Amino acid sequence: MSVLLIFVIYILIISGFIFIMLFGPNEMFRGTIIEKIHWFITEGALEYILKLYRIIFRKDFSVNDNIIFKILYKFRHRYVQTFYLSISTGGIILFFYTALDRLPNQYLGPIHFLIMPVVIAFIYVSFYVACVSDPGIITKENVDALCEHFKYDHILYSERTCETCKFKKPARSKHCSTCGHCIAKSDHHCVWINNCVGYLNFRYFLLFLISNIVISLYGCYLSIYLMRAKGDSIGLNSGYAFNRYTRRYEKIGFKEYILIMFSEDPILCALVLFLGASILVVLGFIGYQSYLTIISGMTTNELAKWGRLEDRLNKGETFVTKTYVGDQETEENKENEKINKNDTNDNIKQRKEKESKSEMEEFYEGMIKNGYRYSTIRSFDDVTNIYNQGILSNLKEVVFPNEKIFEGKN
Ligand SMILES: [Zn+2]
Ligand SMILES: [Zn+2]
Repeated sequence: MSVLLIFVIYILIISGFIFIMLFGPNEMFRGTIIEKIHWFITEGALEYILKLYRIIFRKDFSVNDNIIFKILYKFRHRYVQTFYLSISTGGIILFFYTALDRLPNQYLGPIHFLIMPVVIAFIYVSFYVACVSDPGIITKENVDALCEHFKYDHILYSERTCETCKFKKPARSKHCSTCGHCIAKSDHHCVWINNCVGYLNFRYFLLFLISNIVISLYGCYLSIYLMRAKGDSIGLNSGYAFNRYTRRYEKIGFKEYILIMFSEDPILCALVLFLGASILVVLGFIGYQSYLTIISGMTTNELAKWGRLEDRLNKGETFVTKTYVGDQETEENKENEKINKNDTNDNIKQRKEKESKSEMEEFYEGMIKNGYRYSTIRSFDDVTNIYNQGILSNLKEVVFPNEKIFEGKN
């Protein structure tokens, strides 16, 4: 097998791994092999190992049996985080190992000794910030203000209590079992930073992704110009090379150029291939996340919810929703409300139990009570995403989230 092929396979495996770890939990891969591999890497492998342990030792695994297991178990959520740190640091060390004494050269001036530390610091600082930033943890103190800010749409979100935290769940929030908190406008739990991505830190998450694109582009740029200089020094760029087999000087095509570079500068070639592949995957992920959040006005978590809702409606299911109309009541609405006033909650409950679903929908249709107008949703076209405020407002919410709500004020 040629060296080139081995490199290509190696790059495909690494970028495939990055792709699975980024997109695995995504709705578009629900039920596919991508989701299954992601599950296996993050949870399944450990489960199988524990099962195997039980079969071999005929007892349940206890982390206290062995100090190494204890440490490994304690840090089980940090493996991908460690993987990120090792590939980024490994790549940087590898680059300096092969490039440091070749800089500056005729293409890359001494200015790069100033730029390199800045770019490297950028990834580590943004990684650290993304890891430790508050995603928007909901506490007893701020839950009321958050419920006031994140209004229920009575489609995806209605009044509910978190079983674990024991307080109300504001709309758009989700409990994260890894972090152990309810998170405001929860997007997803990111295994790379081992932190939730939510209302307060979505911007830092994006910054971290961008920092990876910056260092990858810069690394490719440096590597390519280092290789060009090498090509100059071995006379490769003149366009002709001595062919051992034909014993003649022959013109060098693109493929030959690459193959010669692979044998002359294997580390830089591997770096360019790896960085190139990760640029594509991470750019795709940034594009996807930005499209979802800024253009569609939804979180990754909500995308799954909208998908399930559409499925149910397409299967012919219907459900009753309510919209707040209190502020824009018309005379006719008031009249309606007067009629419905006699219905106490208990009354409605009893009727709910007695009547069949379609009768219930008829009963609720157009009804106005306590400032809410009830209506039945029958198709996905009836549904509006009230959280999509338009591109500019969505963007503003990402870049400048209202931190005051988390202090318990509004
Ligand atoms: Zn919770
Ligand atoms: Zn989390």
